[in-house]
Amino acid sequence: MITQHINGERSRSKSTETGPVYNPATGEIQQTVPFASSEEIERAINAAEQAFESWSSTSIPHRAKLMFNFKQLLEKNLDALARLITAEHGKTLEDAKASIRRGLEVVELACGAPNLLKSQYSRSVASGVDCYSIRQGLGICVGITPFNFPAMIPLWMYPLALIAGNAFIHKPSEKDPSASLLLADLLYEAGAPPGLLNVLQGDKTVVDALITHPKVKAVSFVGSTAVAEHIYQTACAQGKRVQAFGGAKNHCLIMPDADLNDAAAAILAAAYGSTGQRCMAISVVITIGDAIAEALITQLKPAIENLYIGSGENPKTLLGPLNTPELLAKVKYYLALGEQEGAKLIVDGRKAKIPEQGFFIGASLFDAVTPKMRIYQEEIFGPVLCILRAPDYETALSWVSQHPYGNGTAIFTRNGEIAHDFAERVQVGMVGINIPIPVPVAYHSFGGWKRSMFGDLDMYGAEGLQFYSRLKTVSSRWPKHTQGHSFNLPTNL
Ligand code: NAD
Repeated sequence: MITQHINGERSRSKSTETGPVYNPATGEIQQTVPFASSEEIERAINAAEQAFESWSSTSIPHRAKLMFNFKQLLEKNLDALARLITAEHGKTLEDAKASIRRGLEVVELACGAPNLLKSQYSRSVASGVDCYSIRQGLGICVGITPFNFPAMIPLWMYPLALIAGNAFIHKPSEKDPSASLLLADLLYEAGAPPGLLNVLQGDKTVVDALITHPKVKAVSFVGSTAVAEHIYQTACAQGKRVQAFGGAKNHCLIMPDADLNDAAAAILAAAYGSTGQRCMAISVVITIGDAIAEALITQLKPAIENLYIGSGENPKTLLGPLNTPELLAKVKYYLALGEQEGAKLIVDGRKAKIPEQGFFIGASLFDAVTPKMRIYQEEIFGPVLCILRAPDYETALSWVSQHPYGNGTAIFTRNGEIAHDFAERVQVGMVGINIPIPVPVAYHSFGGWKRSMFGDLDMYGAEGLQFYSRLKTVSSRWPKHTQGHSFNLPTNL
């Protein structure tokens, strides 16, 4: 049963507002998710407020110990967590496990809390005066997460928020909410005090109540650009600290000198893995010249047509279902639109052999796409790859840089000079060189540019910790050194 998770325990909701949770592989509604009432929201806020009071003064090794226990429990429960994700999201079990491991990396980072929170100390900044800086928690932080990574993205948020001394409220996607509850159970089994992490289910109404609540200090959001922009503007106007990560259209450039076999295999996996429902999926390939485009299509077409389509629980499956009927309809809409716009549909996923039930569609490949087409400009978020043919490198670079989204990009080349030039000049937040999905490791930070991210500080790594903490700088002097106080601004002489 899907519940809220308030003050350290699953709490059966009395709410009458609910939403459907599908099994995407069968198309059936398997459960309903109760949307938190205003009374439940207040209860979670109060629980978090009380937890913050004592948690913010716990020792930092104590916080690290919680993360260490949490990490061990996550490893032990990896299979159970992956099964929940596959059942509600539809992605393959192996892909679900890989996504949890990418979340675990941030928990591992948080285990190093004493080192991460080590302060800076300057002695003798003036005669008998020392100065040091510390970072402290903000209070109650809220994380709103999307359907496509029900465990990884929350794990990119609250481990760092908690070691910084905050309490946290997680609002998962209403499409696949079960993983959020198991994650919370495991954090409490690891030893979290009541109220440190609360999970509130819901949609826009719950989100709006949280991001405007006077007791909430910081809001971290991941989802589509339209909602990211709404969250950013609304929460900023309320004086909150905000980071809001939005949609994407990630380009991959293939230079004439690239290892085409390697590039084609990488693109196949990065475009169609998780059925294209990844914010770092490659959805556009730009070839420099026609010859590479032709050679790439020759390799990709049979590989795409042979992708095994089926339930995420079947170990043979490479292409699982889309998450909802709405997403399936959206992908079909863009396939029809691309044809109307004059793009060449090399592989039409609508014609693939698919299971009779569930939200399935085959993978699709468009060639002869141009920058003016809507299938290029807009995020589709499904298994659809567009090929654009650029006359030269400069044109390709300008297309990537001028695109409204700037989450990730990649270049395949053997030329170090071109790779360096691309990394330096491209207007995108995360760059891969012969790496198609350049999601940074946990001790660097994750974040796009332009309409893929609103706010100043990225997720996880040093910037993540900075987002969830604020700086305090202490100057200290002991009376023995008193030499009188001047009306002039003190100097260090
Ligand atoms: P979504 O924007 O529909 O929902 C994200 C979250 O916002 C959910 O918790 C949802 O309940 C809530 N929400 C939805 N509509 C809302 C509204 N009008 N007001 C307030 N809250 C609202 O996104 P999704 O469909 O769950 O996820 C897919 C999108 O997320 C894609 O656009 C994808 O590119 C993006 N995404 C981005 C990143 C990134 O790091 N940049 C990572 C993953 C997914």
